[in-house]
Amino acid sequence: MTDAPITGLTLAADIAAGRSSAVAALDGHLARIAEREDEIHAFNLVTADQARAAAESIDQRLAAGEDVGPLAGVPVALKDNMCTEGVATTCSSRILEGWIPPYDATVVQKLEAAGAVMVGKTNLDEFAMGSSTENSAFGPTLNPLDTSRVPGGSSGGSAAAVAAGFAPLSLGSDTGGSIRQPAALCGVVGMKPSYGAVSRYGLIAFASSLDQIGPFTHDVADSAALFEVIAGHDPQDSTSIPHQALTDAGVLSVSERLSEGVDGLRVGVISELMGSIDGFEPEVLAQTRAAADALAGAGAKVDEVSIPSAIYGLSAYYLIAPAEASSNLARYDGVRYGHREQGKANTGLMMSASRTAGFGAEVKRRIMLGTYGLSAGYHDAFYGKAQRVRTLIINDFERAYQDFDVLLSPTSPCVAFPFGAKADPLTMYLNDVATIPSNLAGHPALSVPFGTGADNMPVGVQVLAPMLGEAVMYQVAAEIERAAVAAGGAS
Ligand code: GLN
Repeated sequence: MTDAPITGLTLAADIAAGRSSAVAALDGHLARIAEREDEIHAFNLVTADQARAAAESIDQRLAAGEDVGPLAGVPVALKDNMCTEGVATTCSSRILEGWIPPYDATVVQKLEAAGAVMVGKTNLDEFAMGSSTENSAFGPTLNPLDTSRVPGGSSGGSAAAVAAGFAPLSLGSDTGGSIRQPAALCGVVGMKPSYGAVSRYGLIAFASSLDQIGPFTHDVADSAALFEVIAGHDPQDSTSIPHQALTDAGVLSVSERLSEGVDGLRVGVISELMGSIDGFEPEVLAQTRAAADALAGAGAKVDEVSIPSAIYGLSAYYLIAPAEASSNLARYDGVRYGHREQGKANTGLMMSASRTAGFGAEVKRRIMLGTYGLSAGYHDAFYGKAQRVRTLIINDFERAYQDFDVLLSPTSPCVAFPFGAKADPLTMYLNDVATIPSNLAGHPALSVPFGTGADNMPVGVQVLAPMLGEAVMYQVAAEIERAAVAAGGAS
């Protein structure tokens, strides 16, 4: 990447002040897409015509003196598991190929109301199951920083779209790390909100008790701004947090906190995720320690904290998430959605043939794992036990947050890896060890770039906060970003 990418807030300010326009902003980004998208494959679909119409209308409304919204004219890319009315939504699966949602997800409505311009739907691991986008039915996304490497996943297309300058903002979904891990691997900021802070209405379900939508951006200020646009209570999502609780916790006004610094804040570095288990690259650990030191230098009280159950999150997650997926994905039966195999003798055979043809290997593996873990006789030993581990993790983190305002760890044990490097599923699953606990607990967590690791690839440091702790999480992330920029380590 040569010239520094323009941020969403800068672009919004330029457009609002008449120094640029929505159409010019769109053209600039479409030009970058034309230059590199064939190589990167960040998108399943680029909605250029629709985006142009939206941008023209925004420019007209701005010319008429209307307040179009905080993101007026800013291009945004959406992970292709969020419903967009009239625009194909595939989850990067053959089974949904050709399906056109009849409604917009709540986040899509909110983006539109804020004046953002959707430029396309981004690639993902099929049904968001994976950590590299290698599981997409439409081929992988390449890491814009080194095209021999994965961009991470499952929201690899959204991370790559921002990293490649295809859009300054994008949305992903995070069930076990799918926003934070690709953000780390692509050198951008990625954030998973508190469970219930952002509506899941119109997000195609993977594991409903874990899924959350969140932003990808170049910097922390953009992340805070985009989060404020998409957050809020939604009566369409029964797990959505009431407006008053979000307001009281400062969740809807996180931007105010970015310049406050960290003086006196208590930061706990999670020992279990700092090398006491195998698989963490030394450079990743060193950068995480350097970020902690920078916080200490800025006045935070930094200490190690042990959360013994944290590492068991991985095993619990790979029972709970597949269990929920096996139930959620039962709806793809060749009748209600998408692909149907023709010429079968009866409905049962048609359904089984449609699912066999429509789902990829990883999705089938998850459905089988989940069905097995839920089956009579095994339910208590697998699913039940995993739920008890989940409670243990929640309790352990809550205990830690009595002593600390935020916690710190690497986002991913390693930097972006080459395609094919984690071919066996277990090796791939192990990549999620640091991100999964926040999903199981429902807590917010954010990955912020901090320097580079092996082969000069970016490292992401994870800031974890308690339930509805977005404000303090962003406050700390902003300080880490300032330290990264000061050290010249910003990507
Ligand atoms: N990598 C994890 C999985 O494969 C997380 C995916 C996600 O967050 N959507 O399940």
